[in-house]
Amino acid sequence: MTPTPMQMYIDGRWCDARDGATFASYDPVTAQPWCQFPDAGPKDVDDAVQSAHRAFDSAEWATLTATKRARLLHRLADLIEANTEELAQLESRDNGKLIRETRGQVGYLPEFFRYSAGMADKVTGDTLPLDKPDMFGATVRVPIGVVAAIIPWNSPLYLTAIKLAPALAAGNTMVIKPSEHASASLARLMTLVEEAGFPAGVVNLVTGYGPSTGAALTAHPLVRKIAFTGGSASARHVIRNSAENFAKLSLELGGKSPNIVFADADIDSAVNGIVAGVFAASGQSCVAGSRVLVERSVLPHVLEKLKDRAARIVIGKPDDPDTEMGPMATQAQLELVERLVSQAKEEGVECIYGGRRAEIGDGWYFQPTIFYSESTSPAIVREEVFGPVMVIMPFDDEAQAMTLANDTEHGLAAGIWTRDVGRAHRLARGIRAGIIWVNTYRAVSALAPIGGFGASGYGRECGPDSVKDYTELKTLWINLSSDPMPDPFIMR
Ligand code: NAD
Repeated sequence: MTPTPMQMYIDGRWCDARDGATFASYDPVTAQPWCQFPDAGPKDVDDAVQSAHRAFDSAEWATLTATKRARLLHRLADLIEANTEELAQLESRDNGKLIRETRGQVGYLPEFFRYSAGMADKVTGDTLPLDKPDMFGATVRVPIGVVAAIIPWNSPLYLTAIKLAPALAAGNTMVIKPSEHASASLARLMTLVEEAGFPAGVVNLVTGYGPSTGAALTAHPLVRKIAFTGGSASARHVIRNSAENFAKLSLELGGKSPNIVFADADIDSAVNGIVAGVFAASGQSCVAGSRVLVERSVLPHVLEKLKDRAARIVIGKPDDPDTEMGPMATQAQLELVERLVSQAKEEGVECIYGGRRAEIGDGWYFQPTIFYSESTSPAIVREEVFGPVMVIMPFDDEAQAMTLANDTEHGLAAGIWTRDVGRAHRLARGIRAGIIWVNTYRAVSALAPIGGFGASGYGRECGPDSVKDYTELKTLWINLSSDPMPDPFIMR
């Protein structure tokens, strides 16, 4: 089958790369290329950034009131709602995520745009009660400029929406670079951006590889903010690139999140939470609860239930409504999971379930896998796998649970399963992570900030500060006195 050709969206026009270069995106079920994208070079990236820069300064966008920007965002939300099924199918085909999950994610997508639209005309500064009686002081929030959004493959629409919606609400313009492994749903989103009526250049899409297209974008001197979601190795390059131009930066990186089960928890519910934490989306989730800490007294019971549930997981095609676990999104990711699992076995970590590929046609499937470790040193306990692999570790009391939970360089999320409200609060306070779920896991909302501590990145997305985070603060001083300016050689 010939891969379907798709285009980039630059300056309100659909285009190929200037030199005609292309790359293929693969279907994880068949391991065959299914669509083809322009491979943007530095000139294409420059076209997109220059266009976003012109649009930022253009009267059409710069003088549009916040209320009118909100109207455009509402229109885009309505268009996404009207095209949910198509967007969900495209994303599912491209990255292998279950259609039942992408339908839910895309179904919720309009809420990110509506939430930011609601805030667009409520971005205010403060008047400052200055300690200088003859001065009036105030702060004013203004948009930053051109924002580069760098998106990974696991949830392209969701991870773009949480950047695009607040950035536009605040009056910025954007150049989006999707992952080279999953660009299709974002190309379709651009048709909706166009239909919603955003002026040319306000939103642009460039497709290509990270080290070339992504690097050219994040190093571009006209980019004023970079909103990056992805892995820590790429993040380090992006940080270096941002340093050249002093671009602002938000980083949403990976994790090795603990999911902690106390003996007093509702064990059935906790087991569902553990499965949701690491087997949903085949573990290709930044918040994967891949370190499962279990109070020793209930360990045999929890293990038995987990093994039983893992054995019943339906692995199969993402578009089958009965499927519970689909393939890995890329061959490289499958090979990485395989390598980390083999290494763990070689290091003597006990594999109590799964541990190898699931043979289904030519697809990139891996079995749900459970390791058991009392030691915190093996790589499988410390490194993000980004696959359906958990490590179970026992603990004897709350203090040890807290120590184990914090024994990581990451700090994105944590789950706590207990009926003891005091204990839940103590752990929530003590665990160094950006998101704490108590008796639930993997819940998201436009209203709730996400982001991490330490190696999980910095900056937050979603929630009440999301639009503000796409603004610069200006401080305004007005001298109210009619007296001449006093001694110029002292600070006032
Ligand atoms: P990745 O880092 O390989 O790629 C992410 C994006 O960065 C892609 O668009 C890629 O092309 C681009 N990129 C790569 N190198 C670059 C460079 N030198 N300069 C500029 N851009 C570059 O990550 P991935 O494999 O697509 O996604 C998996 C990772 O993303 C995991 O570590 C996961 O935890 C993380 N993630 C985090 C969140 C979160 O919200 N915290 C959400 C999803 C995924």
